[in-house]
Amino acid sequence: MSWDRVRGHGEAKQTFQSAFASGRFGQSYLFVGPDGVGKRLFAHELAKALLCERPPAPLTACDSCPGCAQVEAETHPDFLTLRTPEGKLELPVDEMRAFCSHLSRKPSRGSRKVGIVEDADDFNAESANSFLKTLEEPPPGAVLVLLATGMDRQLPTILSRCQVVRFRPLSSTDVAAVLAEQGITDPARREKLARLSGGSVARAMALDDDAIWQVREALIAGVTAERPNFARLADVWTKFVEEAGDDSAGKRTRASVVIGFFVDALRHALRLALGADVAGIDTTEEPRLRAFAQRHGPDRVLELIEKCVEADYRVERRVQLILVIESVLEQLTKTAK
Ligand SMILES: [Zn+2]
Repeated sequence: MSWDRVRGHGEAKQTFQSAFASGRFGQSYLFVGPDGVGKRLFAHELAKALLCERPPAPLTACDSCPGCAQVEAETHPDFLTLRTPEGKLELPVDEMRAFCSHLSRKPSRGSRKVGIVEDADDFNAESANSFLKTLEEPPPGAVLVLLATGMDRQLPTILSRCQVVRFRPLSSTDVAAVLAEQGITDPARREKLARLSGGSVARAMALDDDAIWQVREALIAGVTAERPNFARLADVWTKFVEEAGDDSAGKRTRASVVIGFFVDALRHALRLALGADVAGIDTTEEPRLRAFAQRHGPDRVLELIEKCVEADYRVERRVQLILVIESVLEQLTKTAK
């Protein structure tokens, strides 16, 4: 059945199924969770289930009727999506207005319409305002779904009008299963990518690229060197981020991927410092990490992990990337006392 395509998120599936069964299905939902955990897929499956013409069970898509096929192809007349246009950082008010006006028309086929705002992080004051009336009083039969990465990026006026559904990072097992579906056949590679993915399929896929592992090697070797070269490291990292071009989400993913590398390496160093077993560690990396841990001591290594986690949070909150990069490297390249 169609919901099987959505890995994890059992709680959210349950919430919608029981709301639907009891006739308490809402009209405005805000999905909140990190990039790449399946919010968009979930919203599209939900739309399909709502617009399916021959549902085999309540709120379940048949995956074979014309309605299902058209939602899948994004050509269904009662299925609307709104994204931030390529190269833009905000949802333009004109497109928001067009979305609302389309939504206000009667459904062409059944009794429902589904509208998904895929980049609800990108509202500006104007586009949010033009959306409020629709959100306040959705047209009869319309269901609205907004996708966002954090509650703190939402205007209170939007938040107060939506039911919030939380999407947490996927388990490594779920990420590895999706990677297998995506055609990554080597189990060791899947396991490694899943472990470093932070529960995000998008990040795991981004990591499936040999060039990235060369960047990783350069950065880890540089940071664990006895006399780390701050400028050179900043250069390698910045260049890697800039390679995403104009894609600001891509740049953030790349900055965050590097932070993930550091956290992973530091965790290994910490385990080595404490004399614990480290499974899956790179044999050329092990002596470097061990020496690094010896120089700095476990308390400092733990502190560095915390600094990195904080920095990752700032990347998500869209702090200027160069500032995050410099502050992380400043910490990591400080010589041991
Ligand atoms: Zn169907």
